[in-house]
Amino acid sequence: MPASNQSFFENVLRYFDHAAALTGLPKGLLDQIKYCNSIYHFKFPLRNPDGSVEVISAWRVEHSHHKLPVKGGIRFSPDANEDEVMALAALMTYKCAIVDVPFGGAKGAVRIDAGKYTAEQMERVTRRYTHELVKKNCIGPGIDVPAPDYGTGEREMAWIADTYMAINTGQLDALACVTGKPVTQGGIRGRREATGRGVFYALREACAQKDDMKALGLTSGLEGKRVAIQGLGNVGYHAAKFCREGGATVVAIAEREGAILNTRGLNENQVLQHKKETGSILNSPGATNLPGSNDVLESECDVLIPAALENQITAENAPRIKAKIVLEAANGPTTPEGEAILQEKGVFVIPDIYANAGGVTVSYFEWLKNLSHVRFGRMGKRYQETMENRMLRAIEIATGKQFSESDRSAIVRGADELDLVNSLSQRHREDSPRLHGARHLPISRLRISD
Ligand code: NAD
Repeated sequence: MPASNQSFFENVLRYFDHAAALTGLPKGLLDQIKYCNSIYHFKFPLRNPDGSVEVISAWRVEHSHHKLPVKGGIRFSPDANEDEVMALAALMTYKCAIVDVPFGGAKGAVRIDAGKYTAEQMERVTRRYTHELVKKNCIGPGIDVPAPDYGTGEREMAWIADTYMAINTGQLDALACVTGKPVTQGGIRGRREATGRGVFYALREACAQKDDMKALGLTSGLEGKRVAIQGLGNVGYHAAKFCREGGATVVAIAEREGAILNTRGLNENQVLQHKKETGSILNSPGATNLPGSNDVLESECDVLIPAALENQITAENAPRIKAKIVLEAANGPTTPEGEAILQEKGVFVIPDIYANAGGVTVSYFEWLKNLSHVRFGRMGKRYQETMENRMLRAIEIATGKQFSESDRSAIVRGADELDLVNSLSQRHREDSPRLHGARHLPISRLRISD
């Protein structure tokens, strides 16, 4: 549950107005950008194993058709509601613009607690939801391309692609109707970890800015930075993994059931393994339990990564936040009032608009791959290896010395799909507005988010 019941969409509008005031664009144009173009609310029945029937609520919101297709994840959550989906769709528009991927923004949700249903029931719900999207012309490679979000992953994306393809037989580009699919079913290597990897890149770049770090009283670089993470799902887990591998120390992790602390460092794999075995992250070996799950937000750390849900950092808890950097991996985790307090305290907030854009960036690559019907690297790998071999041979002839087999194989290696995805997504990040001094730019006041 969000820590605050404030309207998420109202918050997005307030951030928008704040940024818009700095642009000088005409009001009519700003209004056209601001509001959601289409809001679809579906209801459909689900039969339970005991024969009873319940009605499921679901939404798809397309915020901006200024570029097509529109793009945005699908959320499965018991707290999903129209206001939330509208906010998330709007954030997608701004996020796609920030990382310069050619999509308008959209978002979808099904109000359901997936943990309470069997896999078969979830498959029926997902396929029925896809049918509704098809009926409303809300899905298609050139129309609207969903992706995973909170509560969904590769499995759901595979069901969506399969349902869409069954209805649209023979459509050559049909696989591009959804991204975040398993690699074996048209997905792309690197998508699963892309959002967490992007979150890590954002932190690494921020920590490399000596002046900014000095102003915060921190040393530059990631080494030894104490990181606290809320939510150990897709985004939180991969953010923890890359930050730990990059030299940071993950000192606290929270999940729905509670939070744990270890100043010597937590390993996200061990914590996840413990959760698989016991059903909870609490009592993980070597860690201390914190009294409440939300205590993670106020823990002693340098970097706080909210990676669960919106409206977590509010006017109520912001005064007690100790982190010097808040890295918004979740969409909209900070309310405008919470953010004002963080700003006053001199906390460096790295907005969702930028921090969690790795997911949609790699989704864009997956969409391109599906449309081009060829895996990245497939055409060029062999040629690249041949050219590198020729170059080494020329060096050997010129110097009269021979490369060892191990040196040769380390140098001669054409890029495969994962190499290209990772280097391209990093490049995208470097090309998007420089983080250095971003707090002083209007762009940083937009709250954006997949
Ligand atoms: P997920 O479902 O994989 O993981 C979310 C985790 O947060 C779950 O493990 C859940 O138990 C935990 N959680 C829920 N409420 C919590 C609370 N109050 N305290 C602590 N933990 C809590 O979802 P995800 O895909 O990792 O998404 C997380 C956030 O990142 C969402 O805001 C989502 O919109 C955003 N996001 C996701 C992607 C993506 O590619 N999946 C991309 C961009 C942004």
